[in-house]
Amino acid sequence: MIFKNSRNRIRAEKFLGLFALVIVSLLFVYWQLNTIRDKLRDSILNIQVIAINDFAKNAENLFMQNFDDEGMEQILQSKEILDDIENSLEILNSKSYKFIYILYKSEKDNRYRFLLDSSLHQKERRNSTFPVGDDLDIYDDTIDGENHKLIFQTDSKNSFNLYVTYVKPIKISSSEIALFSLDFSVDLEKVVKHIVGNIKNSIVFLIFLLSLVLLGLLILVIKAILDQDKAFLDDLTNTYNRKYLTYLTKKENLGEKYSVMLLDIDYFKKVNDTYGHQVGDYVLIDVVSSVKSCVNADDILVRYGGEEFLLLVKNRDKDICDSISQRILSRVENHITKTSKYEIKTTISIGVNVCNQDREDIFVMIKNADEALYVSKRNGRNQAIFYDCKDKPK
Ligand code: GH3
Ligand code: MG
Ligand code: MG
Repeated sequence: MIFKNSRNRIRAEKFLGLFALVIVSLLFVYWQLNTIRDKLRDSILNIQVIAINDFAKNAENLFMQNFDDEGMEQILQSKEILDDIENSLEILNSKSYKFIYILYKSEKDNRYRFLLDSSLHQKERRNSTFPVGDDLDIYDDTIDGENHKLIFQTDSKNSFNLYVTYVKPIKISSSEIALFSLDFSVDLEKVVKHIVGNIKNSIVFLIFLLSLVLLGLLILVIKAILDQDKAFLDDLTNTYNRKYLTYLTKKENLGEKYSVMLLDIDYFKKVNDTYGHQVGDYVLIDVVSSVKSCVNADDILVRYGGEEFLLLVKNRDKDICDSISQRILSRVENHITKTSKYEIKTTISIGVNVCNQDREDIFVMIKNADEALYVSKRNGRNQAIFYDCKDKPK
């Protein structure tokens, strides 16, 4: 665990969650671009169809101008009229439109035939049968319908390029006489992919940039949290210091959840006097590690004074606290601190307060535990005394 303090860990986790959320949102937008791409493609197609509709209306007008009482037969037989319409439509021709032609359904064989073809170099198609295949249905549909129809074909290599056939019925008093048809392709590859590609690149760049910024922030936050963790730790014993206790008491009422134990090493002055201060330090660290091995992760060990420690046990049960204190006593008593020169045995005394008075102030609880500790010392040390919740300790 990077953070000693669980609250800091939660803060760091929240930050990481936010970090992940931003990245996921951007990835979602990136993924959504495919939908945007399709919408864009449809819009471009619509604009094209609007322009072709105007074109079709002109073609229809041209056709109607030459259509008189003799009807279709007269147009079919007049090369001049056909040339005329064909040439007029040719003027409307542009690079965007591949084929512009008018079909009619021959009474002879009931098949579609080219009435005329204004596509460049395609004039020989006049009166030849129109290739039929899968597309036939839509042509028949168009005859029954009012408006234009679009037949789509895609490039097998590049599904993004559309080949579209626009078909519009030409009617006289609501009966179908011909079909105006125009083939065009939409090179969406260039247009859409270019636009979407730019947006995609921008998002990738943004994700990259944000990741860098967030990573930097994350490092700063982790550093700040670690620094704060460090500020709450005692250098020598690596237990919490009193500053941390003050910090905790501001955040929550510790008295509601924790039992209090005050631990003091017995005759520690003598250790210092006999072996020197440095060895004393070493013994202090050793005693702390014995204590730590007896407590849970939820418990909080604070260096309360020189060789006096406060243990906040997250349990208010007297029996459990009793067994914890006994475990600590025996572990310290049975442990031998070994240095290169000496083997030192120590004991500790403990004052315990499990009194469960609602919202009891932690410092009152500590004061009472201290009274119990004093009794423990007076009674001969190396023992745990519980503060009597109603009466003063004996
Ligand atoms: P008692 O059983 O009554 O507790 O006897 P004691 O000798 O332990 O008495 P007391 O607790 O009053 O003495 C504390 C001693 O601990 C005094 C001080 O020199 C020593 N001490 C406090 N902090 C440190 C420390 O960080 N390192 C070392 N080596 N000694 C320390
Ligand atoms: Mg002592
Ligand atoms: Mg002391």
